[in-house]
Amino acid sequence: MIESDFIIVGGGTAGCVLADRLTACGKFTVLLLEAGPSDQRLHIQLPIGYGMSFFNPAVNWMYRTEPEPALANRSGYWPRGKVLGGSGSINAMVHVQGQPVEWTDLAEAGGSGWSFEALSAAMNRARERIEGADVSQDTHPLCSTFITAAQEAGFGNEADLSKLGADGVGHFRIATRNGLRLSSARAYLRPALKRPNLAVEVEAHATRIVLEGRQAREVHFIKAGTAMIARARREVILCAGSINSPKLLQLSGIGPAATLKSNGIEVLCDRHGVGRNLQDHLCIDHLYRSRVPTLNQQFGSITGKIAAGLRYILLRKGPLALSVNQAGGFVRSRSGLAAPNMQLYFSPLSYTRTAPGTRTLMRPDAFPGFMLSAQPCRPTSRGFLEITSADPAMPPRIVPNALATQHDIAEMIEGARLLRQLAATSSLRDVIEEELQPGSAVQSDDEMLEDIRQRASTVYHPVSTCRMGRSPDTDVVDSSLRVYGVDGLRVVDASIFPSIPSGNTNAPTLMVAEKGAEIILGKSRSQ
Ligand SMILES: Cc1cc2nc3c(=O)[nH]c(=O)nc-3n(C[C@H](O)[C@H](O)[C@H](O)COP(=O)(O)OP(=O)(O)OC[C@H]3O[C@@H](n4cnc5c(N)ncnc54)[C@H](O)[C@@H]3O)c2cc1C
Repeated sequence: MIESDFIIVGGGTAGCVLADRLTACGKFTVLLLEAGPSDQRLHIQLPIGYGMSFFNPAVNWMYRTEPEPALANRSGYWPRGKVLGGSGSINAMVHVQGQPVEWTDLAEAGGSGWSFEALSAAMNRARERIEGADVSQDTHPLCSTFITAAQEAGFGNEADLSKLGADGVGHFRIATRNGLRLSSARAYLRPALKRPNLAVEVEAHATRIVLEGRQAREVHFIKAGTAMIARARREVILCAGSINSPKLLQLSGIGPAATLKSNGIEVLCDRHGVGRNLQDHLCIDHLYRSRVPTLNQQFGSITGKIAAGLRYILLRKGPLALSVNQAGGFVRSRSGLAAPNMQLYFSPLSYTRTAPGTRTLMRPDAFPGFMLSAQPCRPTSRGFLEITSADPAMPPRIVPNALATQHDIAEMIEGARLLRQLAATSSLRDVIEEELQPGSAVQSDDEMLEDIRQRASTVYHPVSTCRMGRSPDTDVVDSSLRVYGVDGLRVVDASIFPSIPSGNTNAPTLMVAEKGAEIILGKSRSQ
């Protein structure tokens, strides 16, 4: 039996922040349990290695959703990091803070401690550790064509897409430093590892939280096939992410009574909201055959690969040091909106013809291709997830329930129309040979919607499954991120967002983790 003041379950984006912050003062001991391995692997540190982690079960939970009626009965692929750094070790590194509108929801759910003013210190602390790197000098030349096209279409230029309230189009900043991925494992955990009061167990899969009365006391986990127990003197902090935090709560008897009973699990705390309120970003890609070479040519030829490799080795620059999403922005898909409602992505490569399950970016499509994508910022549909077995090794049933509202359907169509508007500008017309997907046969709203149903997919931002809020009947954690009805148990990760942030979710999750650490260490009001 291992004993510690705090046990953090999950060494991902949020967990690594907490491991650092809670051990910094030296007053507490912390045990971090991570189901996956160390992140000291080339394909994780090398930014372009993203393509190699995408379908790699050694570092990825590789979840699948239920077939979705609104998406032509397709089952979505939901990668999640299973490695130190979590999804922040396998993500596309786009670093954005989103829009201030999120703060209204956070403050409504969490009170004044979650207001814009109260959160800015946490956001700044996160930014000091992980600031989006400006890689605009190194991106593919077509990114500038895309930015000019957007200006032609009437959208503004945004020099810093990573700032809160970014408005317009530009180059994305990415979470890298000196050409290497900058996950929270690298930015927070690594420097903390030398502290004697921090213990990290990798390949340690937590299977259950055990309560003594109302108090969370133990975490049961399996390491190298052996069942082990860790005991928390103060608190258990769940940082297992939006899929695994609610799953672990349900396995531990904390969740909707009907779900627990149907899986033979004793109901210790009937919490209807655990696994409910799931939100995610849905995105539609338009694929073009280009008249000019794209990264497809560079990655598709031996000489191109050697040149990219040499550039990386000598300068830590070039396409191997970048994200696949090199440019994009936050724009309005219709007039009269106070804030941007659509995130755009521009990728100067395409990999649509690779075999399913093998998204290796070094083997992209043979033809010169690029992609434009649109993702509505604030969808209103909500789904759920639930365990289907008491066996911790079994994946949960994930029901995203995408396109469940008219608002979401309308905005997806507006997003697709916006891509067409961009492609019709003279800047992009000059370089587009042909629209390959959806293709010119798709014109009416109904045809656009059908294409969305056939092809739209997640951009991997599930949130809200352990939502923070004021009602124990529908929400999971209170404004101090404590699980309602249980003592000594908090959730601090992307699952606590009351609603989905406008943009990519990593930087907002870092902020939640910084805020969580502040609350746990008693430095801030939470109400
Ligand atoms: C493919 C992909 C691309 C993305 N692209 C971007 C992007 O470009 N920009 C951006 O901002 N965001 C992106 N995201 C989203 C972003 O990475 C996540 O929102 C963020 O990492 C969530 O942080 P988290 O701490 O909630 O969970 P995670 O970082 O997923 O951490 C959870 C950790 O808990 C561990 N764990 C889970 N269950 C257990 C258990 N039972 N026992 C022990 N450990 C456990 C997991 O292995 C994992 O390490 C992407 C995500 C993916 C998957």
